[in-house]
Amino acid sequence: KGVVHRICAGQVILDLSSAVKELVENSLDAGATSIEIALKDYGEEWFQVIDNGCGISPNNFKVLALKHHTSKLADFPDLQSLTTFGFRGEALSSLCALGNLTVETKTKNESVATHLTFDHSGLLVAERKTARQIGTTVTVKKLFSNLPVRSKEFSRNIRKEYGKLVSLLNAYALIAKGVRFVCTNTTGKNVKSVVLKTQGNGSLKDNIITVFGMNTLNCLEPVALCISDSCKVDGFLSKPGQGSGRNLGDRQYFFVNGRPVDMPKVCKLVNELYKGANSRQYPIAILNFTVPPRAYDVNVTPDKRKIFFSEESSLLQALREGFQQIYSPNNA
Ligand code: ADP
Ligand code: MG
Repeated sequence: KGVVHRICAGQVILDLSSAVKELVENSLDAGATSIEIALKDYGEEWFQVIDNGCGISPNNFKVLALKHHTSKLADFPDLQSLTTFGFRGEALSSLCALGNLTVETKTKNESVATHLTFDHSGLLVAERKTARQIGTTVTVKKLFSNLPVRSKEFSRNIRKEYGKLVSLLNAYALIAKGVRFVCTNTTGKNVKSVVLKTQGNGSLKDNIITVFGMNTLNCLEPVALCISDSCKVDGFLSKPGQGSGRNLGDRQYFFVNGRPVDMPKVCKLVNELYKGANSRQYPIAILNFTVPPRAYDVNVTPDKRKIFFSEESSLLQALREGFQQIYSPNNA
């Protein structure tokens, strides 16, 4: 059982950034307005997600990290219309299998917080009182220590993993509405540096200035497309010839209803149209799709980053026409 569990866990949690993504999504689902991500040695030693969300109630402690435990799926017909991104109850159980998981939490109904320790199979093995405000802190120590080969790879690639994570956190910081994001990294002899800090109370435009700076904003063109009655796309694209990405995917962020996702086809489309504008560089793209929850499915891939639209081809066609207005006004 142990081995199967570990192999399956490896599909949800592929790397540092997918691990942290699951925790951040849980914090957002819990209604947090402040989320702090703390890393030790770029996440190699441990990482922690600290939120001020609703907390976890004591009757959920024992089952919290068991596979398929979720508080987000009351009944099956809900599956289609669910707007939270996490509902398969796999993140905490996978993290237990892959590292050492502890949780500190308090709801508004408790007078004191609780510290919980789980073993690799997701069983609650220790419980004690602690001091904490309302909210939850999840700590994962030694990710992948349970899988020797993966663990070595993880250490070897830690800077790359960290870079990918910072890019993901930038995505959250860009799209955040009413959520404050802070990321810190502590290295060596307790030298703590702030990697990212946003107040999360501004518009997308304000967030772009915070994350990338005013110069970047000046190279961007606002995008606002109505694809259909219920589907719209807002955001920013590089002005023709003013892209600054050196690699495909550099500073290209896609969101659906405010949550970061991978959209390879949209990414490809943007790059293709931009190239038409005669450049060796890649455009910056920050695009949020507002669509009804029934129009897409995020749970097809285990890491929930890839998204599938039910009317993909008409969406892509509408985007093509819309983006052409920016990149080849004469042909449009
Ligand atoms: P899922 O998010 O799919 O429900 P997870 O394994 O990610 O499954 O989390 C299991 C459960 O633990 C959640 O359904 C939720 O009840 C609780 N939980 C996890 N993280 C938090 C958090 N930061 N705040 C409040 N509850 C949380
Ligand atoms: Mg979750």
